[in-house]
Amino acid sequence: MKILLLGKDGQVGWELQRALAVTGEVVALSRDPVATAYGTLSGDLTNLEALREAIRTVSPQVIVNAAAYTSVDKAESERELAFKINASACKIMAEEAHRLDAMLVHYSTDYVFSGKGERAWAEVDEVAPVNYYGETKLQGERWITASGCKHLIFRTSWVYAARGNNFAKTMLRLARQRQTLSVIADQIGVPTGAELLADVTVHALQKALQDTQLCGIYHLAPAGETSWHEYARYVIEFARINGERLEVKAITPIVTTEYPTPASRPLNSRLNTKKVRDAFSLHLPDWQSGVTRMLMEALNK
Ligand code: NDP
Repeated sequence: MKILLLGKDGQVGWELQRALAVTGEVVALSRDPVATAYGTLSGDLTNLEALREAIRTVSPQVIVNAAAYTSVDKAESERELAFKINASACKIMAEEAHRLDAMLVHYSTDYVFSGKGERAWAEVDEVAPVNYYGETKLQGERWITASGCKHLIFRTSWVYAARGNNFAKTMLRLARQRQTLSVIADQIGVPTGAELLADVTVHALQKALQDTQLCGIYHLAPAGETSWHEYARYVIEFARINGERLEVKAITPIVTTEYPTPASRPLNSRLNTKKVRDAFSLHLPDWQSGVTRMLMEALNK
């Protein structure tokens, strides 16, 4: 099987390079041109014709799109660019997947929902994005589902990876420098490891290729829920127990309105994962286990 992976160097893309390797030949592209067995190819999602050309050249059975415009605040001002990458490029991928009878795997976000209430969002719930990033991701989903191509779309939340920067590492850095940290306590969600997303993708992909009835949109996040404030406390407590010398004495909970950002954030990012667990016979671990693994790597334990 031949798989075209777009966005190979992002948090999820990097883990997918590892996880997809056992399923077949992976042609992994990034924004910059990459030398492949099919020539030098560009996976730049702002160049829609080059994207179409790259897909036609590789002619894969599976396209996995881990590339996205993910700067939520900047998307408010860079609207055209965000829309092109998160929506228009998905339309091209979907058209080409349909033409090739290939499976398109894509990632979306809980930001397609309004963030109201306290119930975990189900796949069938009404969408109503609170920011422009959410709008672009929703349009990407819509173009994929409307195209008629075989697809798996995983909506997830609060993604972190061991590689690169993430919220937990930022909290550790600040905890070494400051005595007090103020962290938002009224946004509730689930930190989701890129590793888990990649592993579940491979498992689900293999099943959906055998049974296309399994195609569709799924919510995917670990079990449990937390706030950014509780998440920060968990990280700092773990570091302290493991011998890190930290300056921080107080982690103060604040509300979203005390920390204004260009893009609004949903207060309720909970995702109901029953559909993905049932469809693919999955057990999703609690969020702490993935965060603990990432922290052990970050702290060299
Ligand atoms: P990252 O920001 O880590 O990775 C996105 C990748 O897309 C980067 O490698 C980036 O490259 C690449 N990219 C950006 N613009 C282009 C472009 N024009 N052409 C080609 N590649 C481009 O995101 P994640 O891995 O965290 O996200 C994976 C998916 O999960 C996305 O669909 C995202 O919307 C979704 N998601 C993410 C969440 C999160 O908290 N991060 C939450 C919910 C959903 P470069 O580094 O060069 O910019």
